[in-house]
Amino acid sequence: MNAQTGLTTKIARWLSGSEGAEVPVEEATSREATRNGSTREVERRQDLYNEIGSFLFAHDLDLTVVNFGLALDYITGNDHEIEKAVRAILSERGQLTNGAAEQIVAERHAGEMTAESLSNMLNTVEENLDRFSTLASESSESASDYGAALQAKFKDMEGKESSKDMVATLINLTRSMVEKSRQIEGEMRESQKKTHALQQSLETARKAAEQDHLTGLPNRRAFEARLKEEVAQAAENGEPMSVAFCDIDHFKKINDSHGHDTGDRVLKFVGSLLAKISDEKCHVARHGGEEFVMVFRGKTASEACEIVDQTRADLASRNLVDRNSGERMNQVSFSGGVADVFAYEDAREALKAADRALYLAKEHGRNRVYMASGSDDPAE
Ligand code: GH3
Ligand code: MG
Ligand code: MG
Repeated sequence: MNAQTGLTTKIARWLSGSEGAEVPVEEATSREATRNGSTREVERRQDLYNEIGSFLFAHDLDLTVVNFGLALDYITGNDHEIEKAVRAILSERGQLTNGAAEQIVAERHAGEMTAESLSNMLNTVEENLDRFSTLASESSESASDYGAALQAKFKDMEGKESSKDMVATLINLTRSMVEKSRQIEGEMRESQKKTHALQQSLETARKAAEQDHLTGLPNRRAFEARLKEEVAQAAENGEPMSVAFCDIDHFKKINDSHGHDTGDRVLKFVGSLLAKISDEKCHVARHGGEEFVMVFRGKTASEACEIVDQTRADLASRNLVDRNSGERMNQVSFSGGVADVFAYEDAREALKAADRALYLAKEHGRNRVYMASGSDDPAE
């Protein structure tokens, strides 16, 4: 089981298509090794494919995008929430159904969708309130103008006995009209204030939707948006730029030996070490599972590699203790892959290259950071 699971851990990478290997900084890869590596990757992809197929058929699931995605996330452990939800159903009912699969995936994405669409709705509400408020104040002004005009007009008539009562009534009516308009305007302002407050809480909710709740780091969605901005900025300034992936080594074993709570704490800890690197030009995010992603604006790949490697060395030198049992844990480490964004067609390709470099770092023994070699990449 272990060997098989091992075979399937890197599918997400393999599914991205390119099997090319870069020449890492620390070790050169011969053509022969690359060829062997490619064959192994193909075999692993085949294994994953078979495993997904077996899973779908074992649970009699339809061959839909949702079910394929769920099987992939569950088998690779790529999406921990999905993995947990599937596990819970399996232990409760022993069997997954199409409906349950759909529900799991829908629930997984429900929060994100709602926060954004609610925010859009509130923007519209606020625009409407603004318009109402302007109208109310305009109507109040014109009513008060009206009142003033009336008062002026009837002033001369005040002495005349016959029209006195009528004038008094008219003036009172006008006054109450002005008063009413003011009141409405006040209420409108109050509603507007409330809408503003509501919108602020929504903004907070939107931020929370872009944050990984376990580590407090930005999540993958937020990272992708940030990456786009940073690429544009770097291109404009003519700055170098790099991206990196880090993946905790043998994390499954940490969970298996110490439990998920301790696993979560390790994740938080690694996240906090990586977060120390971040500043206004460097952004760290949780990419999913036990994988982190980084962007370094203004840094060449070798500079970024050096920075990530320092954190790697820092983590590997720690003697971590399992708080639950008081036991000392085996060395915790991560592997990394770094790529120069502008050596590739776009940031997406650079991320893939960084991921391949990470994969090689794993292949070559873990607890190391490799740099993708850009144009020399045999897959290009
Ligand atoms: P490798 O060195 O090759 O990366 O091995 P690995 O064991 O780290 O990689 P693998 O992909 O086999 O396992 C990753 C595990 O991480 C599977 C999943 O259960 C676990 N995991 C993912 N997200 C979380 C999380 O939020 N909390 C905990 N405790 N575990 C998680
Ligand atoms: Mg790992
Ligand atoms: Mg991983």
